[in-house]
Amino acid sequence: MSFSFEALKLDPDLLGNLQSLGYDSMTPIQQQSLPPVLEGHDVIAQAKTGSGKTAAFGLGLLQKLQVGTYRVQALVLCPTRELADQVARELRRLARARHNIKILTLCGGMPFGPQVGSLEHGAHIVVGTPGRIEEHLRKRTLKTGEITTLVLDEADRMLDMGFQDSLDAIVSTLPQQRQTLLFSATYPEQIKALAARVTAQPVMVKVESAHDARSIRQHFFNFGLNKQRLTALRLLLLKFRPGSALVFCNTRRETEEVADELRSHGMSALALHGDLEQRVRDQVLVRFSNKSVSVLVATDVAARGLDIEALDAVINFHVARDPEVHVHRIGRTGRAGNRGIACTLYSEKEQYKIDRLAEYLEQTIEPDALPPFSLLEKPAYKPPMATLQIDGGKKQKVRPGDILGALTGENGIAGKQVGKINVYEQSTYVAVTRDAARHALRKLRDGKIKGRSFRTRRIG
Ligand code: ADP
Ligand code: MG
Repeated sequence: MSFSFEALKLDPDLLGNLQSLGYDSMTPIQQQSLPPVLEGHDVIAQAKTGSGKTAAFGLGLLQKLQVGTYRVQALVLCPTRELADQVARELRRLARARHNIKILTLCGGMPFGPQVGSLEHGAHIVVGTPGRIEEHLRKRTLKTGEITTLVLDEADRMLDMGFQDSLDAIVSTLPQQRQTLLFSATYPEQIKALAARVTAQPVMVKVESAHDARSIRQHFFNFGLNKQRLTALRLLLLKFRPGSALVFCNTRRETEEVADELRSHGMSALALHGDLEQRVRDQVLVRFSNKSVSVLVATDVAARGLDIEALDAVINFHVARDPEVHVHRIGRTGRAGNRGIACTLYSEKEQYKIDRLAEYLEQTIEPDALPPFSLLEKPAYKPPMATLQIDGGKKQKVRPGDILGALTGENGIAGKQVGKINVYEQSTYVAVTRDAARHALRKLRDGKIKGRSFRTRRIG
């Protein structure tokens, strides 16, 4: 299960920029649509507003853009000027690591003349509303011969607004050989018909927006003796092998005990609770979110600030005190269509909490059988990444690009072996794949960053 952009074959520039934008993981629609988009397929994607659609098509068209060629290569159609402006703004943010990419908006309600002037200066990407784009085509001020990507954003809205004929007129001028990406919040007959006309062998993706506790597949495990609880937790981790698992405990002390115990069995686990020093807390969060630690054992309060989408698993080491807290906990997995696991361990003594929860969820709760004990003999699994800590940060003007450069330069590691880079005031953390960690450490120790040597160590 991988939700990070690193899993994609993206240009390192684009990837590094995503990190600097704080895009830690893909949204569900990005997870589903970016792979086929980057492979060049036509894609029809159904997803709600705010789901991150712009990057889903934007990265695709930026990746294949020929920057040296000053011709319009991508056309993005939006229903309104406001939406077009938003899309252009987001595209500029996504493109900022690559120089000289020209993005132009062509919308109605704006003077026509200056748009013609801008077009004459050349642009790579045009974002606009159908009416105005059609007008430019009619007057031959916009040339479409080199367009390789067409995006219909919020297609259902465009049809609602009566742009059907404009859309057809525009599409008829475009090269047949092109990639077409159609995004729509709903998928009525009209959209189906439009899609059939403008796309070829499209890949369909859909992200459910409805998401409540009932839509998450929950597992409950009942065991006799309380002292078996830790063994049960290990069994679940060994069975599901989640890359990122959040384990909830009810007390601070318990988080430490559980994390210690997991580590003593070779698992990659850290505790997160309110008593940690800020610096330690930052480190814990960095290591968990960059996938160099697989299990985070946390209290409810400590986990609240945790900004990680799409955890692979949430495990309740104890049943939450309150059903609402339970629902909030498990809501952190299986986000919007993307499958995660929610497990709850309980002993006989907690049966009353389970009954209360069942009533709250209006569901019956039946325990699953624990995974076989033979799993305990297997070696613990390792996280995919390792973290290197560099004793230099914002104060020393260290930027993610500098680190990436230092790592991937001559005799360095590959860009795709570099994960998340987090720059703090005085230190920087960089994730690299485990198999590249020694090489990366040597490279950073022997080489220079911004002309200086910084102390560097591996911390996990
Ligand atoms: P939509 O077009 O689906 O309505 P947008 O593309 O405008 O959504 O994205 C909504 C917001 O989410 C924007 O502010 C955007 O910068 C942000 N965003 C998009 N993808 C990510 C991501 N992977 N991580 C963090 N933020 C993201
Ligand atoms: Mg949008």
